[in-house]
Amino acid sequence: MSSAANRVLLRVEDLKVHFPVTEGVLMRRRTGSIKAVDGVSFDLRRGETFGLVGESGCGKSTTALAILRMLEPTAGRIVFDGEDISEASQSRLRPLRRRMQMVFQDPFGSLNPRMRVREIVGEPLKVHRVAGSRRRFRERVAELLDLVGLLPSMANRYPHQFSGGQRQRIGIARALALEPDLLICDEAVSALDVSIQAQVLNLLMDLQAKLGLTYLFIAHDLSVVRHISDRVGVMYLGRIVEIATRDELFERPRHPYTEALLASVPTPDPVVEAARAHHLIAGEVPSVRNPPSGCRFHPRCSKALDRCDRVEPLLEAVGPARVACHLYPDSSPAAAGAGQAGDQVV
Ligand code: SF4
Repeated sequence: MSSAANRVLLRVEDLKVHFPVTEGVLMRRRTGSIKAVDGVSFDLRRGETFGLVGESGCGKSTTALAILRMLEPTAGRIVFDGEDISEASQSRLRPLRRRMQMVFQDPFGSLNPRMRVREIVGEPLKVHRVAGSRRRFRERVAELLDLVGLLPSMANRYPHQFSGGQRQRIGIARALALEPDLLICDEAVSALDVSIQAQVLNLLMDLQAKLGLTYLFIAHDLSVVRHISDRVGVMYLGRIVEIATRDELFERPRHPYTEALLASVPTPDPVVEAARAHHLIAGEVPSVRNPPSGCRFHPRCSKALDRCDRVEPLLEAVGPARVACHLYPDSSPAAAGAGQAGDQVV
């Protein structure tokens, strides 16, 4: 195996998650499918943070759940640390699940209000039967609380006795209990005030440096993704339309959707803000049940070409980025061959 391949912790290849649409009295007649994720490919290197960004409903969270096999993929490969887990049995997945953990969006809803923090943080240790003696269990929970900036003495309290930021720290402590390699953070700071968001993001970055963690960081908020990510993938209607390093993406966005997303970020300058109205993305997000033909962004794209409503562009190298757009000739199927390629370049 090459050193480049060794650096890859997670490889997602042409991942598809389609949900059947059924009708009829008994809902048995299949009339179509919702292509929530439709050919997503990317690599996640050890120790990096890969940001996955896009509007609500674009398939980011479904991608995360499929990677963890909490949703069954319809097609594609998920390779974790060299092992294809796309079709692994539940018994095979069990030890691997210890190494892949998730931090959820809602620190209020994801913590059981009837459990003390000690039980919440220590629950994965018990589920995976690695809790050890009662004393060792208490010590480990205290270590985890300390790791996320909470006092070990808080272990006896209930979730309602904490602020939103503290509850998210509890969620992070629980996710770290089994010493994972990969942490999938799904809108992990979206429910928090901006000042608290910064604290939790800084905590995640400190933990990454200390523990060598790899993050898949899912968010709709570009400023959050910019703060924490090394590389970023932009999703639109179930597909990745651009992958680039953080600086490349934010300084030289190539895909018209990425450009439009960046242009729609509010600024504190009222003059800039007044002009910004002209940059808002036109139209509504189309339904994933019936996505537009060709390039899915074409009904909203101000740069659409003749073939954009007929031919789906592929994700191909454009300078140091990878972009799926006919403005870049290599993204045409004839030039690139079939399928959405993995990100070998960026
Ligand atoms: Fe716009 Fe065409 Fe590029 Fe799609 S392929 S983003 S419609 S220019």
